[in-house]
Amino acid sequence: RTVYVNGEYLPETEATVSIFDRGFLMADGVYEVTSVLGGRLIDFDGHLARLERSLSELDMLKPAVFDDLLDIHRELVRVNGITDGLVYLQVTRGSDGDRDFVFPDPETTEPTLVLFTQSKPGLADSPAAKTGIRVIGIDDLRWGRRDIKTVQLLYPSMGKMMAKAAGADDAWMIEDGHVTEGTSNNAYIVKGNRIITRHLSNDILHGITRAAVLRMASEAQMQVEERAFTMEEAKAADEAFVTSASAFVMPVVEIDGATLGDGTPGPVAARLREIYLEESRKAAV
Ligand code: PLP
Repeated sequence: RTVYVNGEYLPETEATVSIFDRGFLMADGVYEVTSVLGGRLIDFDGHLARLERSLSELDMLKPAVFDDLLDIHRELVRVNGITDGLVYLQVTRGSDGDRDFVFPDPETTEPTLVLFTQSKPGLADSPAAKTGIRVIGIDDLRWGRRDIKTVQLLYPSMGKMMAKAAGADDAWMIEDGHVTEGTSNNAYIVKGNRIITRHLSNDILHGITRAAVLRMASEAQMQVEERAFTMEEAKAADEAFVTSASAFVMPVVEIDGATLGDGTPGPVAARLREIYLEESRKAAV
């Protein structure tokens, strides 16, 4: 695999980053994951806009090549022959060669920019989309700025492990009695013809797929309600699903052991998945 590190395309075995990099020592960095379908990038503009916001919220400078990021994504997709897969991008605050809680001077410290691809043949035809996934509820123990897409992913990783240990596929996180989001996706329930998902705030990541799916749902005359919901409400819902750049729209068929409907993906999730994949492939760059 060819990867990109600070201006250079290199074989992955030759790519290096300083051990003093604040991404490594302090999780001081942000990231984006953009999916690739048919060799083209899905929702690229949305991911780039969110990256710019994440950097700004953490007082990090944009990498000098910010305006070339589309070209860099495309070049990595090309040289690695990616048809379906993902492009991972990470910007960390870099390092001034020592460890200190205080941020290094941005005038003299370049951010570290890393990109690599992951090949995922048949990404849009995953078997899980046909069967649906099972989720459990866990406490949301993350920090309070979940709207910033930081590389601080230990708790979400632990959440996936808790789900696995419980025989489920993923976890929905709960705070003050209400679901915030999934470990790596936004969470939705469906009641009648209403799609319910948590409103935007610092409590959740503002999903790029979420924004696109809600817009498409409204365009398709579906009703959308942006508000918090409880696990009890979710367990009694007609259907549920999650959205993310890598899972698109993924049906949920079981919540904390309660089967939704007949235990197969519901019609609203299935339709939204179809619409999202069709529209976003058309708009891919
Ligand atoms: N929420 C969390 C916590 C995530 O980590 C992610 C994606 O990684 C999402 C939501 C979905 O965001 P997007 O649709 O932009 O991938």
